[in-house]
Amino acid sequence: MATDPPTTLEQALSALNRERLRAEHYRSQSHALRDELTALRDAASDASTSRLLAEEELDDTRDRLSLALDAAGMGLWEWSVGTGDVYLSARWSELIGDVPMESHCQVADLLQRIHPDDLAALNTVLTDTVSGKRQRYDAQFRIRTYDNQWIWMESHGLGTDRDASGRAGRVVGISSDATERKRLLDATEQARQDAEKANRSKTEFLASVSHEVRTPLNGVMGLIRLLTDSPLTDEQRQWLTLMDESAQTLLHLLNDILDLSKIEAGRMELDSAPFNLMDEVGQACGPLVAQAAVKELAILVDIDPSLPESVQGDATKLRQVLLNLLSNAVKFTPRGGRVSVNVRPGPNGGVHFEVSDTGIGIAAEQQTRIFEAFTQADASTTRKYGGTGLGLAISSRLVQLMGGHIRLVSAPGQGSSFSFTLPLQSAGDHNKSSGPMSAPMELEHLSTRAQTFSGLRVLVAEDHPVNELLMRELLKKLGCSTVVARNGLEAVAAWKRGNIDLIMMDVQMPELNGLDATLEIRALEGSGFRPPGSPLPHTPIVAVTANAMSGDREKCIAAGMDAYTAKPVSPQALTQAMAEAQDVSAKWQPAPPPPMLRAIDPHTNALPTQPQAGTSLGKGLPPPIQIDKLRHRLDGDQAALSRLASATRRQLAQHITALSQALGQQDQVLATTSAHALKTALATITAERASALSNGLEKAARKGEWPLFGRALPVLKTEVARLDQALAALEED
Ligand code: ADP
Repeated sequence: MATDPPTTLEQALSALNRERLRAEHYRSQSHALRDELTALRDAASDASTSRLLAEEELDDTRDRLSLALDAAGMGLWEWSVGTGDVYLSARWSELIGDVPMESHCQVADLLQRIHPDDLAALNTVLTDTVSGKRQRYDAQFRIRTYDNQWIWMESHGLGTDRDASGRAGRVVGISSDATERKRLLDATEQARQDAEKANRSKTEFLASVSHEVRTPLNGVMGLIRLLTDSPLTDEQRQWLTLMDESAQTLLHLLNDILDLSKIEAGRMELDSAPFNLMDEVGQACGPLVAQAAVKELAILVDIDPSLPESVQGDATKLRQVLLNLLSNAVKFTPRGGRVSVNVRPGPNGGVHFEVSDTGIGIAAEQQTRIFEAFTQADASTTRKYGGTGLGLAISSRLVQLMGGHIRLVSAPGQGSSFSFTLPLQSAGDHNKSSGPMSAPMELEHLSTRAQTFSGLRVLVAEDHPVNELLMRELLKKLGCSTVVARNGLEAVAAWKRGNIDLIMMDVQMPELNGLDATLEIRALEGSGFRPPGSPLPHTPIVAVTANAMSGDREKCIAAGMDAYTAKPVSPQALTQAMAEAQDVSAKWQPAPPPPMLRAIDPHTNALPTQPQAGTSLGKGLPPPIQIDKLRHRLDGDQAALSRLASATRRQLAQHITALSQALGQQDQVLATTSAHALKTALATITAERASALSNGLEKAARKGEWPLFGRALPVLKTEVARLDQALAALEED
């Protein structure tokens, strides 16, 4: 037994060691377990904290959203499409009253409250939002409140929870009371309509007042002219000049007001016709030439030759704008300065216009203001230069109307430049027959025609210096020599002096217009006067008129002109008219003396169906001519009336001869043209019955119904004889 103890001790120690190790193992395990528990506890507490935080945040967002909706007065709603249930937020109880705070109802019940007039539109947007045709909608409708009032509601909704086919399971949105906004909008719209109506009335009032004032003003101006021609003292003449200036200013102002009110009422209409660019620029410069000459101002015109000669647009309005800019340039440029007009191709085939001067210039701060109506650069302008401050307002609006915009570059003391570009396209082939040709064609035309007209001595009666220049240039190319007259009186005097082969007669001229000058020349010729060196008893006269108004040609022919051409004059239209006038003149037969009708027509006695002449002519018939109306047309000018009467008598005789001749030879062309010419000439002098009879003859001639023509002609002759008597009485007056 004595051998075991050390072993036992070792065993004991080893056991002890094992126990210590186990204890340590357990201790470390329990530590790990404790750490794990702590970690677990910590993790659990973190998760609950963040959930709590998230919940809190959600509550905040909800609060904020509901606060915002409340603040905006909006009610939230959510419609479950499948069940038809609609959730309404608390605000709805305030909006429409008899729904409890935060309630649910059926969509059909809610729709029952919608105004019948708005229901269809609302149904459509809701159906579209559910079907997916639209994602969201905005709508306005009236809804009935608890006390049976209609309020306007504005609603915005969005379809959501869409299935595979795009159909929404829910529609959510907000609605608010829009009654007040709608009322304000309606009131604004009403106010706008009222203002427009008031503006229209103002425009109409201005237009009618301007028109009404213009008529007596024209009378006043006419009387001033008459007075100026009477014997006067120097002082009286000075007063009359002042009166005339005031009347002119007033007329100008009235015209401006009329224009501006038309533009503002949107009633200013644009014309579109081919016109000659150079001519219009010339026409705009013309009225200022004299004024510029007094101030020793040069007006320089530069037109780019590559521009088309004829363009399509509103010539009158373009001229009005250019004239206004030019008259300002002349007005605000001191003596010795320079005014330039520059016309060149603009972008996109348009035409660029620039009117510049070396005048007083305009300060930067005034540059936008001067385009407003009734505005001038400064108050002293009116005192020094006059004017109304309407010109630029009208010009800039006209340019806008024509598709451009006026640009101004100016500095005090350095002159001004006003420019704009208009979309004026080349008129191309329009007016091919009488319109412009290309430059080489024109030269060729002129050189071939030159053989016909070369050596002719032509009197150009034209008051407009630029037009006169253009006409002289054309005639020069035809090999003609020219004499110039600036008005009708000068024209008659120049023709009387002699050596004139042809007259180009402008219709609108000062002193004596072209129609009266022609009447005078024809009357002199009729009395047997033949100017020295005149080859023909009837000088060919070509009418040149500014506006080819209907009836112009007839008036010119009635006054005794032989052919007619409208401005702008193209070379081919000019040569055609010249040839026509020469032709008429060559064939011209002097009219036999009165009583004309019986003497000139051998058939008259052969076919008498009515009494032919004498005091008993046409008893019971209306007067052959409406003398008062005619006198009114001639502004009561007795001398013009008597000249017209004698010229017409001669014409009537010629036409009746031609008609008789046509009947004899059954010449349909001669019969038609003579009857037509007679019809218009008679209408011009208010001989309505005779004109109607001629119309009948013209129709019969066109159809070649000679028996009818033969029966009608004597009736017309009787009427013309009656007319001739009346005209003879006018001649003697
Ligand atoms: P007004 O009839 O007064 O000339 P406008 O509308 O044509 O009216 O012009 C308005 C004002 O603009 C003028 O009064 C003048 O002060 C200024 N103005 C216009 N054109 C010129 C110019 N070429 N040079 C200097 N000032 C100009």
